[in-house]
Amino acid sequence: VSEPIPFTGDPLDRAGNLRHDPAWVEHALASPEARFLPFWRLTVLTHASGPPGLLWLDAVQRQLAGDREVVLLGLMAGAPHFAIDVSDIEEPLSALSLSDGARFAEVREVATRLPPADSGTVAHARSLLDWHNRHRFCSTCGRPTRPGEGGGMRECQACGAQHFPRTDPVVIMVVWRGDSCLLGTRRNAAGAFYSALAGFIDQGESIEEAVRREVKEEAGVDVDEVVYHASQPWPFPSSLMIGCFAHAVSDETAVDAFELDNVRWFSRDEVRRAVASPNPELGFAVPGPVAIAHHLIKAWAELSEEELRTRWRLTREGA
Ligand SMILES: [Zn+2]
Repeated sequence: VSEPIPFTGDPLDRAGNLRHDPAWVEHALASPEARFLPFWRLTVLTHASGPPGLLWLDAVQRQLAGDREVVLLGLMAGAPHFAIDVSDIEEPLSALSLSDGARFAEVREVATRLPPADSGTVAHARSLLDWHNRHRFCSTCGRPTRPGEGGGMRECQACGAQHFPRTDPVVIMVVWRGDSCLLGTRRNAAGAFYSALAGFIDQGESIEEAVRREVKEEAGVDVDEVVYHASQPWPFPSSLMIGCFAHAVSDETAVDAFELDNVRWFSRDEVRRAVASPNPELGFAVPGPVAIAHHLIKAWAELSEEELRTRWRLTREGA
């Protein structure tokens, strides 16, 4: 993968072994070195001008947010870094004395403008805070849960059940045959905006099986070889996009009108030009670099058929 995929590369050490110890977590929370990244209704605090960057509060500024749950993201240069949810404060910028030079930004909007590693931290924090918000009650007995391990889990106070943050796996695939690839356009998508086919992995299904099923369901095309390429955390709210190349054994399509408006085969040259820049003459556009679809489509367009065939041979041989 030639360029960083947004939402990957979180540099924090998640302190998975240390956070089991409640005394260590308490100590980290009280540290004068601690830093806190505020989120307000799932938007993240950034500098309002200049190069976009995350705005972390120090231990003194954090007092302004009052006594509230925080989640430990991890350590950087020994300093504990936390996320803090201030959604219930009506005017969070003034409450935190941040009126000048700060704003809460939509994560999707700033993802490609942040330093790449920061977008990884944001994906981590956004998914985790959202999971805590939606798991205040035990799914086993319905009683309240409380966070443990610095926010790495929640525990039911009544029945003792432990609940861990979930990640939902999604397959996303460029289907190809010879010198063409198959892309689809979603129902209600504005304009001729074509992307890789995608879908959630079902229970009891491997990545390869999910790719074959989704391509058959959405486009009516049979796939044989599936090769993994790259993945991306997608924090809306907590998906993991698993990017693959899928080789089609036929080129006749039958679109699933419930899921998609259309599927179409595109030549490698058309795709290369669409990836390089929005080009009205092409009559279609592909996703921008915030999404793994962009990187997957681009990588396919840059690979030759021979290189793709080599990849699946290596996969099959376990090399
Ligand atoms: Zn319970």
